[in-house]
Amino acid sequence: MDNRVYNFSAGPATLPLPVLERVQRELINHEGHGMSVMEMSHRSPMYEEIINGAESQLRKLMNISDEYSVLFLQGGASMQFAMVPLNLKKNGKADYINTGMWSKKSIAQAKKMLDINIVATSEDKTFNYVPSIDKTKLDKDADYLHFTINNTIYGTRFTSIPDSGNVPLITDASSHILSEKINVNDFGIIYAGAQKNVGPSGLTIVIIRKDLIGNAGDDVPIMLNYKTYDDAGSMYNTPPTFSIYVAKLVFDWLNENGGVSIMQKINEEKAGLLYDFIDNSNLFTGTARKEDRSLMCVPFLLPTQELISEFLKQTQSKGMVNLKGHRSVGGMRACIYNAMPMDGVKALVNFMKEFELQNR
Ligand code: PMP
Repeated sequence: MDNRVYNFSAGPATLPLPVLERVQRELINHEGHGMSVMEMSHRSPMYEEIINGAESQLRKLMNISDEYSVLFLQGGASMQFAMVPLNLKKNGKADYINTGMWSKKSIAQAKKMLDINIVATSEDKTFNYVPSIDKTKLDKDADYLHFTINNTIYGTRFTSIPDSGNVPLITDASSHILSEKINVNDFGIIYAGAQKNVGPSGLTIVIIRKDLIGNAGDDVPIMLNYKTYDDAGSMYNTPPTFSIYVAKLVFDWLNENGGVSIMQKINEEKAGLLYDFIDNSNLFTGTARKEDRSLMCVPFLLPTQELISEFLKQTQSKGMVNLKGHRSVGGMRACIYNAMPMDGVKALVNFMKEFELQNR
């Protein structure tokens, strides 16, 4: 397998090997066109086939209706922290749920444009749980309600979708998209940076209900207006062509392997294996509240810094990399996105068992 490691990085993250192999095969001469996708004009018929294919495959995977547009943007999820308030501003206020560092960043950005009401937060316990929402705190006149459906750093996820009534519900799904089934119709906007479950960085997916497009004020820059991209089929300017191509191959791979429901089943098995071991361990401990645990990002601790360093050193030497936890949680974190095979999780758990025996 070309000395490939098991890469537990939070993102950019591991991609499906069959996708990488296909990219390699097609790199120099894409389907007989005599050039790579990187070298193609985004306006050429051959590229149009790729971007249209990416959209239709994603629509199929997530069951996205015609009431929604799918946009392929740049600027990362972080750019959406600004585009959402810029485009949805009407009454000048929005509700936010604060479940971690990425929520906080989205709030900090939105505060520059709107009055922000934090309707729930888990900051009191280092974001190790998903707070319940007191419905009386929700503002019926808010321009939207924003939440982060999976918290990459703290390893928590929403297992039920907040009910925002008629207020558009917006979610940052960067580390959640395509990992389990969600009902797109529950949302006004779903956005995600590609570099975890979709493909290379540089691409941001935005799934947006059409009535939320075209309401931006005249002062909103053209490049930050959803309408600009919607009108131009995501090609107002040059899109991230290569990232979209790889995303299409990832979508093909997902569709060929049974789609999101099968992926969800596998993800539950993978995460279950890791959590079961942690729950029964006398050495390792999980950090997130059980009922809110993420299927994608699993933070865990060891009792001392020495053990943590030793664990990271030994896993690295065994080809299991990027397991260091985020500095705000410490310890370790295993991101086990769609492309992480069950064998990778098994290898990790087997090593954790061994490590526990060595360090009892
Ligand atoms: N939101 C979440 C939940 C994330 O995990 C990340 C990246 N780790 C971001 C936003 C930021 O994404 P980007 O780098 O694409 O701006």
